[in-house]
Amino acid sequence: MQILQQVFGYPRFRGLQADIVAGAIAGDDALVLMPTGGGKSLCYQIPAIARRSNGQGLTIVVSPLIALMHDQVRALQEVGVAADCLHSALDYAQVQAVQSRAWRGETTLLYAAPERITTAHFLDFLDHLAQKGQLALFAIDEAHCVSQWGHDFRPEYRQLALLHQRYPQVPRMALTATADAITREDIIERLQLQQAQVYVSSFDRPNICYQVVEKADPRKQLLRFIEDEHPDEAGIVYCQSRKKVEETAEWLLQQGINALPYHAGLPADVRQRHQDRFLREEGLVMTATIAFGMGIDKPDVRFVAHLDMPKNIEGYYQETGRAGRDGQAADAWMTYGLADVVNQRRMIDDPQSQASEAYRQVMRAKLDALLAMAETTDCRRVRLLAYFGEDSSPCGNCDNCLNPPQTWDATQASLMFLSCIYRVQQKSDMHFGAGHLIDILRGKPTDKVLQYDHQNLSTFGIGEKWTQQEWGAVVRQLVARDAIVADAQAFNTLRLGPAAKNLLAGQEHIHLRLSERAERKGSGRMRRIAKTTPANRMHVDALDMSARNRLDALKAWRREVAQQNQLPAYVVFNDATLIAIAAQNPSGLGALSQISGVGQKKLDAYGSELLKVCGSVS
Ligand code: ADP
Ligand code: ZN
Repeated sequence: MQILQQVFGYPRFRGLQADIVAGAIAGDDALVLMPTGGGKSLCYQIPAIARRSNGQGLTIVVSPLIALMHDQVRALQEVGVAADCLHSALDYAQVQAVQSRAWRGETTLLYAAPERITTAHFLDFLDHLAQKGQLALFAIDEAHCVSQWGHDFRPEYRQLALLHQRYPQVPRMALTATADAITREDIIERLQLQQAQVYVSSFDRPNICYQVVEKADPRKQLLRFIEDEHPDEAGIVYCQSRKKVEETAEWLLQQGINALPYHAGLPADVRQRHQDRFLREEGLVMTATIAFGMGIDKPDVRFVAHLDMPKNIEGYYQETGRAGRDGQAADAWMTYGLADVVNQRRMIDDPQSQASEAYRQVMRAKLDALLAMAETTDCRRVRLLAYFGEDSSPCGNCDNCLNPPQTWDATQASLMFLSCIYRVQQKSDMHFGAGHLIDILRGKPTDKVLQYDHQNLSTFGIGEKWTQQEWGAVVRQLVARDAIVADAQAFNTLRLGPAAKNLLAGQEHIHLRLSERAERKGSGRMRRIAKTTPANRMHVDALDMSARNRLDALKAWRREVAQQNQLPAYVVFNDATLIAIAAQNPSGLGALSQISGVGQKKLDAYGSELLKVCGSVS
């Protein structure tokens, strides 16, 4: 507790942190499952500091990415903790210097990549430390990398079992944000953690507001979302293809949004540069494929947007989880339309792929769960958490809770659509796309309708009362339910699917949300997070005018300090801390030290400057 308050400046532990820390200080092994942003780092950093000061030596942190190590080390140094890292970009002399410091007992935490740790040279070094009783703890971050079931398998992680075999007396802590049960079991087995205490936190991220919007003009929708809700704030925009990543980034730039592309097809140095800029500068939007993300510990990402739907809820949750690690309000926003459903289904059913039928079935079920979340008219968080095995009640912080959607009974329209496909096929022995079928149902005598004499079908004009958009929702729902199937080889023409039968037999009812446009008319901007935000977290919207001015001044000051010291801004102070300072306008150092995120070293280094900045704003 003392370390938490004095070094890190936080008043209290979050969730299971206190238990985890106590266990590690006592020397127990642990497997820690916490969602992204849950606060995993402190779980091993505090025991590392405690064990070092108890004379128990050095903590080794295994981490898969250089960028990640680097930032953690800088952040620790900023709060006055002796941390170092070893990675492939260091030369021999630098490695020697790092190891000498550790050997002399000057280092508290040493970060290293798994392949480094299992070299003979490094093991030799560890052997010597172990003989002196100077190995305090092994922390294995991103532990799901050890499992082929995880989403990021790294064979080098498998070697880490030898830490246990070689140094059985040294406690270990494995940490990950991956929830699913098979991966969990696999981690325990691969890392030989059978004796470890397993800590599973709730996967809820209460500060993230989930929104899914119907795809109309996705780029424009995205632009409006960024301009209205997140001007000059950092965010990630996920797209499925590399090409779309580049096009979207370029387009956003033209629209005056500071955007950068990132995907695996870009040269390594460009990727590195873009990632560094995203971490260090404020207000950048990274447009990326899913290649971007792991180890991006930037706490002030204010939104994650999906222009294309991910494959499953795990992916969606992982990606959206990168928003709002600092606990401040953040948005997960996705556009979603018929093409997404069709594309994802097609990838699973692709006859070219070698996948077994059993595998395809698992994938279909996973996709269905995500589709259900996208189409639902009730709380999205309840659906998400249920997927991870957690019960919850409506959250008050998703689009459906904030603006409960009107629904309409689309059963009749669905039947009309199915019979229209049937009639058209009967008449012309051909299949057509959604657009043409909707024209028939709405009674539009287009050239194509006339060409095929479809104005004489019994279904012509029977669906006039529904808008184009409402029909779009019907089609999407029918495809999602497999009642119709889109043929990739033939311009996405539609056929009746296996599930059509039950619908046609009148055995199912379909309720759909009323189309967004009609519903939103006049409702303006969505009301934001309020009820569920814990009292110790604040949102900028709640600040009065003079507090806002103070916040602007504090951010400008932070930018300057960050530049001078070549640090990411959030390492100086994160947004949550600046907002709290702006809101409370502390009268002196004593009051300032009470604010969450202001530890002793930062108080000494920046305290009087902060008070001056606040004082300068009237
Ligand atoms: P994870 O690694 O689980 O994604 P981090 O360790 O990066 O999460 O923590 C996320 C953010 O929460 C960081 O900015 C961290 O400083 C902050 N944090 C962690 N624990 C606490 C706490 N007990 N009180 C306040 N802030 C905390
Ligand atoms: Zn909700």
